[in-house]
This record gives sequence, structure tokens and C-alpha cells, in this order.
Amino acid sequence: MQNIEYDGHIIPYTLYKSKIKNMYIYIKEGKVLVKVPSRVNENKVQDFLNKKSEWIYKNLEKSKEKIRKEKEERIEQKDIERLQKIVEENIYKYSKILGKSPKKVRIRDLKYAWGSCSSNKNISINLKLALKDERAIEYVVLHEMCHLIHMNHSKSFWDLVEKNMPKYKEYKKLLA
Ligand SMILES: [Zn+2]
Repeated sequence: MQNIEYDGHIIPYTLYKSKIKNMYIYIKEGKVLVKVPSRVNENKVQDFLNKKSEWIYKNLEKSKEKIRKEKEERIEQKDIERLQKIVEENIYKYSKILGKSPKKVRIRDLKYAWGSCSSNKNISINLKLALKDERAIEYVVLHEMCHLIHMNHSKSFWDLVEKNMPKYKEYKKLLA
């Protein structure tokens, strides 16, 4: 594996020699492939890549970003079912402990929060939690359930969260 340098970034690439006349650069799935004529001078290849380094770097970043997005969006039915089960179990568990239960619980594609609790006592849970650790999901459920008692983030609210989940700060980090 060889490297291309651009603006302090080291970009590895794979070189293929082939019976072709021109040099080609392919960026696929976050990787750089360079195809060159079999008898090409290695210095010529390096010059060609140096000239194209900015283009390579930018397109590689785009390609990596695409992979990241696809991963995020790849929530499958089985992940949703798992989330539903964890949410239900914890709503049940904390309803008994806190002596309060929500009117409705919905799993939705929320844009800006992991969960929400309305003044009508409806709880919404973010669908994106489907790919998160079980403890992180439990934390979000508990957090929203505690809002059934304290509709704010006061000290009493956080005390209630901590009392029921002493390690909540650790679990919260799993959401990042
Ligand atoms: Zn809150």
C-alpha cells in the first residue's frame, strides 16, 4: 500500500497495474484505487497523484461520510423490535417504582432529542436508540419517566434519576 499526501493528511491507496493506456483513480467505499498502465514510470504515477491530491482527499471524505450516514440509517426491523421490548420492560419497571405511568408511549424518529415527555404525560422515545446499548435506552426511559414527577431538570429531578440509576452518568455516555 502506498500513500498520497494532501494538506498533512496521509491517504493510502492500492495500485493496480493493467493493460490500459491511461491512469485512473477510483474512490469506492472509503478507499482509493489507482489503476495504471503496466509499464508506467512510478514517478509519473506519483506526479499524477500529487496533482490530483486535493480532488482525491475531498472525494474520499465524501465517500466516508456516505458510509457513516448509511450505517446510521441502517435500523432494521429486529432492532426496532428489540427497542420496543426494552422500552416496554422499563416503562413497566419504573411505573411500579415511581408510582407514575405515562398515558402513551411512542417510538418515533425524533430530530433533536433521545426522548421527550409532554405535559399530557405522553412519552416519546427516539427510534435511533434502536442501535444503542440497552443501558443507554433504560437511562432515556427513566429520564422521561422522572419528568412525570418533575417537569424540569431541577436538582430534585436529577436526584430522582440518580436514586434509581446510580450509574446514569456512565450510561448517558453510551448515547454519544
Ligand atoms: Zn429531560
